[in-house]
Formats: sequence, C-alpha cells, structure tokens
Amino acid sequence: MSQVLIVEDEPRIAAFIAKGLRAAGFAALVEPSGEAAVQLAVTEPIDLVVLDVGLPDIDGFEVLARLRGQGVTTPVIMLTARSSVADRVAGLQSGADDYVPKPFAFEELLARIQLRLRTEPAGEAAMVLAHRDLSLDLLTRRASVGGRSVDLTAREFTLAEVFLRNPGQVLSREQLLSGAWGYDFDPGSNVVDVYVRYLRRKLGADYFETVRGMGYRLV
Ligand code: CA
Repeated sequence: MSQVLIVEDEPRIAAFIAKGLRAAGFAALVEPSGEAAVQLAVTEPIDLVVLDVGLPDIDGFEVLARLRGQGVTTPVIMLTARSSVADRVAGLQSGADDYVPKPFAFEELLARIQLRLRTEPAGEAAMVLAHRDLSLDLLTRRASVGGRSVDLTAREFTLAEVFLRNPGQVLSREQLLSGAWGYDFDPGSNVVDVYVRYLRRKLGADYFETVRGMGYRLV
C-alpha cells in the first residue's frame, strides 16, 4: 500500500484529503508542521508528499528545498493558490513534480497522485509497456503496432503511455491532461480529443474507446 504524507495545517482540508486517500486504498499521514514534515519524509517510508504552500513554520517551498537538498526524491505535489503564478514558478524551481491549485476537487488530486505513482520508473520491467499489439519502449520512446514501428510526437507518446499504464480503465479528460500535459494545461481545452484522434489514426482506431460523458478507455 502506498503511503502519502499530507503536509497541511488546515485541519478541514487535511482531513478531506486523508479521508479520500484512505477510501482509495492509500495509507495517509497528516503533518501540519513543515519542519516535522521534512523529518517524516526522511525517516518514514513515504511514497508521495502532498505539500501545501502555506504552513505555520517554514513554507512549502522551504520544505521542498530541504527535501531535495537532502537527496529525497519522493514525488511532491504542491497545493498552490489558483491565482498565484509566482507560487508555481517558485515550486517548479524548488523541484515539485506537479501542482494542484486550491480549491480543488478531490478526484483531480487523486488522479494526479495515481498517475505520479504509476509513472515512477520501476526498474527494467517498466521499460516496455505493451497492450495487445501495441508496445511502447520507454527508453527509446518508440511505439510499435504488431511489430511495425510508428512515429509518434513526444506528446502523442506521453498520452499513449498514460493509456498503456491504465489499460481497461476509463480515464477522464482531466486525468489524461494531467498525465500527459502536467500542470501546463487549460482544463477547458479540447486538446485531449484532438490527440486521441491522432493516436487513433497512427496506432489504430479500435484501441481508444470513447466513453460518453466520461472520457476514454484503452481496450
Ligand atoms: Ca495551509
């Protein structure tokens, strides 16, 4: 079971995240203090950190800087103010892996946590992803269908990778956006639909099923 450390001093928000994560099958630890969170992330088996910027002692950026400074590479998802571009830039520079702007829907945070945990490199076995006739070589970034090599752009490859990591699961546009476009996306855009069309054209129309009102599924 993956353990998530939630660093947030607002009890209501911390409890909301912890409750949701436990329901989704994660172990959740809550820590309101930045200083104590650094200690926990160093000493406890933490798989991912959800880190708020506003904390009572040192702020989230300082927590992140200290973690990275101590060689802790655990993925960190920062909770930032929706309007604050400065926060995002500062977080990027301190080595955050992703962002969720406040206020957020739990599903959005969960999708990002799940994608982040699944996309961590897990050694040799994870270097080739395959589903039916499709395969993606994550080292060479090459795709093939039935042994025939197919040219994908970097973005197409990343989107295909999100699908192949979650075969059979319905993935919402938001999940696909956060998986393939990271924090740098406009949730209102139709870019996912456009890129799914590209993938269908290049890899085969029948792999990527539209699930009406929900998203897409690799079948
Ligand atoms: Ca806070």
